[in-house]
Amino acid sequence: MQEKTDTSLKDLGEFGFIDRLRPLFPAPDGVTGIGDDCAVLPQCSGRDTLVSTDMLIEGTHFLRDDIPPYRLGWKSAAVNISDIAAMGGRPTATFLSVALPPDLKAGWMDAFLQGYADVSRRFGAALLGGDTTASPDRICINVAVLGECPSGTARLRGDARPGDRICVTGTLGDSAGGLKAILEKLERNADVQALIDRHYLPVPRVPEGLRLAATPGVHAMMDISDGIGSDLGHILDASGTGAVIDTASLPLSDALRRVCARHGWDPTALAIGGGEDYELLFTCTPEAEKALDVPHTVIGGITEGKSRPFASGAGFDHFK
Ligand code: ADP
Ligand code: MG
Repeated sequence: MQEKTDTSLKDLGEFGFIDRLRPLFPAPDGVTGIGDDCAVLPQCSGRDTLVSTDMLIEGTHFLRDDIPPYRLGWKSAAVNISDIAAMGGRPTATFLSVALPPDLKAGWMDAFLQGYADVSRRFGAALLGGDTTASPDRICINVAVLGECPSGTARLRGDARPGDRICVTGTLGDSAGGLKAILEKLERNADVQALIDRHYLPVPRVPEGLRLAATPGVHAMMDISDGIGSDLGHILDASGTGAVIDTASLPLSDALRRVCARHGWDPTALAIGGGEDYELLFTCTPEAEKALDVPHTVIGGITEGKSRPFASGAGFDHFK
């Protein structure tokens, strides 16, 4: 690399790192590699295999004293299954690798595995293997997920076209509101608890993704893990398009509106910059949008050119 070697990850950011490794590892012909929610590997059976992996580190992604182990197990599998949903695929299997401190209690592990099992069963993903090792102190969890879809039907981030509507499933900002409520130790009324549940028990949008991928005219798709402020940028970069967003149209839950009103928080900022909603962000033709049988909200449109609706840095970056 030509660039100064003393540039730190803090300057480059998460995506600066990924941009450095991409040119070194071009994907083989016919394979979609680094840069989408999943890699897409064509099989000879008329189906494509989808693969993704995600890691959760204690202190970075969760605080052991705050998250009940059942919920951590659920979330570990769910965020991975969500990347299969993001392609419009059906999850088939996961592999679970854990580094655990030796003083961890059996009750903690049983609850963790129960949460992992419950979400896996709900979405049809079988745990087929993994790795277990000791960690000096922090819990580290890595999950690899496999899925499948009919050949050539996976929805890529690069598929957006000028004139497309930009849509999201569900509501945005709830998970970020839940995290803020946990960190600020808010009293847990029903609204606050609903937001915290969205943060700890994300529901991957698998049936929605399957229906969207079966709909002609649905183009780019991804799941919202870092907040649309940053995630929409990935669709625009990958498809060489711009976008306009109507921030007044962002779907907000009543629970988020009420908690924000009460505590003086800005719900729009949480909806844009807060991650971990695990809703689907997709683009489609106006005709397809009218006929969609998946509940969704239109939040803007894809344009020619490079118009960016959000400042860079609007979403989550691990190193910034
Ligand atoms: P997601 O939020 O959907 O999990 P990420 O933003 O984490 O996706 O990653 C973006 C892309 O970069 C993905 O295609 C991912 O597989 C790839 N990627 C991230 N880290 C690495 C790495 N260390 N080595 C290879 N590919 C990576
Ligand atoms: Mg993703």
